[in-house]
Amino acid sequence: DMTKLNVTGVNLFARATDHLDEIIDQIQRLIDKGFAYESDDGVYFEIEKFEEFGKLSNRKIDELESHRELAETTKRNEQDFALWKKRDNVDEPVFHSPWGDGRPGWHIEDTAITEYYFGEQYDVHGGGLDLIFPHHEAEITQMEAVSGKSPMVRYWLHTGFLNVNGEKMSKSLHNFITIRELLEDWDADTFRFFVLSTHYRSPIDFSKDSLHQSEKSLERIKKFYSALDVESCDVESDLEALTEAHDEFFNSMDDDFNTPKAIAAIFKLITATKNEELAENDKIAIKAFLDDVSQILGVDFYLEETSAGSDDLFNLITDVRSDLRAAKQYELSDKIRDELINLGYEIND
Ligand SMILES: [Zn+2]
Repeated sequence: DMTKLNVTGVNLFARATDHLDEIIDQIQRLIDKGFAYESDDGVYFEIEKFEEFGKLSNRKIDELESHRELAETTKRNEQDFALWKKRDNVDEPVFHSPWGDGRPGWHIEDTAITEYYFGEQYDVHGGGLDLIFPHHEAEITQMEAVSGKSPMVRYWLHTGFLNVNGEKMSKSLHNFITIRELLEDWDADTFRFFVLSTHYRSPIDFSKDSLHQSEKSLERIKKFYSALDVESCDVESDLEALTEAHDEFFNSMDDDFNTPKAIAAIFKLITATKNEELAENDKIAIKAFLDDVSQILGVDFYLEETSAGSDDLFNLITDVRSDLRAAKQYELSDKIRDELINLGYEIND
């Protein structure tokens, strides 16, 4: 499904169950360094030992209380979070550890895995806005405590929610649509373009109307692109509208991936050159720029000759023509036939 959406950059999906050794090893090092302790029902991180807790979300330890486990525990402090949970339910799958059978805490899996593949510090960590607290905060706490190095991550990228009628799209609310269902009715590029039309940190409101809007907008770029009708080659162009669009596109992308602003630069270019007779070198330069944009956004600008939509339209027109012939309105039906032939269709009565 992700490949169909042209999301092809992920080369590894790590499984927590394949990294139990790394998880246990990281917990042990946290205990050795005095940040974690074992109790009757698990191993816990002692938050008071890590002074910088809360630096990502600007929230305080007290607020963690709302996330505490409901069951009675033997934690030293209410806010301490679990690194290992000893078996509390025989029906659950368990794993072996020096602290008895059980399972890892939610946060430790991630830092054990990222330390294994990326090391103690790395550049980018993504996730939904709802993961900042407490999850990402706990990740920073664990990793920086164990490594003694800061920051664990240089750039955090938190995405806004995908909403349906103002509510978060989620499994539990039953207001979700799968990628497969989506792609039955919509082009993958249309969906990508729809997503890119909103800044990644902002919420996206999913609706047929907004998808339609994206479809139309993308179509406009595609028509502009195909009308250029030039071969790529190295040329110089000092077309002002192109220079402006180029600068605005790249400056916007450099500004925390402001994709809606970057896309707006393309439409400015289309509008600015609409009534101009463009020189060949300018057309070639615009095409080269749009090829770059297409590559960066991962959206194809080639106009498809026969999309499902144009098939429907073609059938509609030929149906109307049949009705006209049946009603002996030959002048009109012949006119439609000639126009269709002009468009490259073959009509056989
Ligand atoms: Zn995580």
